[in-house]
Amino acid sequence: MKTSVFPTYDALCTAVAGQVAEQLKHKPESVLVFPTGNTPLGLFKNLAEQHQAGQISFAHAHIVVLDEYAGLVPNDSRSLKDWLHRELLDKINVRDTQVHGFEREPEMMERTIKSLGGLDLVILGLGPNGHLGFNEPGSSFDSPTRVVDLAPESITSNAAYWGSEDRVPRQGITLGLGTLAQARSILLMVSGANKQDILSQAMNDPISPANPATLVRHLQQAQVFADEAAIGKRP
Ligand code: PGA
Repeated sequence: MKTSVFPTYDALCTAVAGQVAEQLKHKPESVLVFPTGNTPLGLFKNLAEQHQAGQISFAHAHIVVLDEYAGLVPNDSRSLKDWLHRELLDKINVRDTQVHGFEREPEMMERTIKSLGGLDLVILGLGPNGHLGFNEPGSSFDSPTRVVDLAPESITSNAAYWGSEDRVPRQGITLGLGTLAQARSILLMVSGANKQDILSQAMNDPISPANPATLVRHLQQAQVFADEAAIGKRP
């Protein structure tokens, strides 16, 4: 695993966008996974701008949704797939048939990924409790795509999106850690001083499901891209 540090959030987003652009240049039909949350918003803006400037094309790419709330009625605009549409997919040239969400049972997602030839580039955010997607602490490193109970930290951090904590669904569906670990390339994107402690734990804790983010240290194809605020002062 390699770690790269960037002076600002903007520089971090530019670097991650550069990796996406490189991936698409090298393989236009790449299968990509993007995270939800605040961390990727600058990345999405950068990708939309590059697309508008004619510098990047998603015409042949596939997007696999990383995670979703469980139990939503079809077309609920609060789904993470809809969120991803609003924040990124509606601003780039990707057709609905190229976007793969959790409309069917979790096992179907594994089959879809196989039929697409596997995941090429997975971009992840770092949860406040070390979760990757909705793989909460305790998720086994070989876990498949499945329905999971959301951890209290995830319910709290999603409360604003739902209006209040008691409205947040208690379960989610997520690509499993085992599913993500098979991707050809993984990039964990970390920004902000509020991530200092959890990033330090991800880098230094024993590698164990107690902190799912420690998984990336196991994986040769994984990289951590962080801004200086997330890394904190070095001794
Ligand atoms: P954030 O969320 O980007 O909003 O910090 C990360 C996560 O919970 O995975």
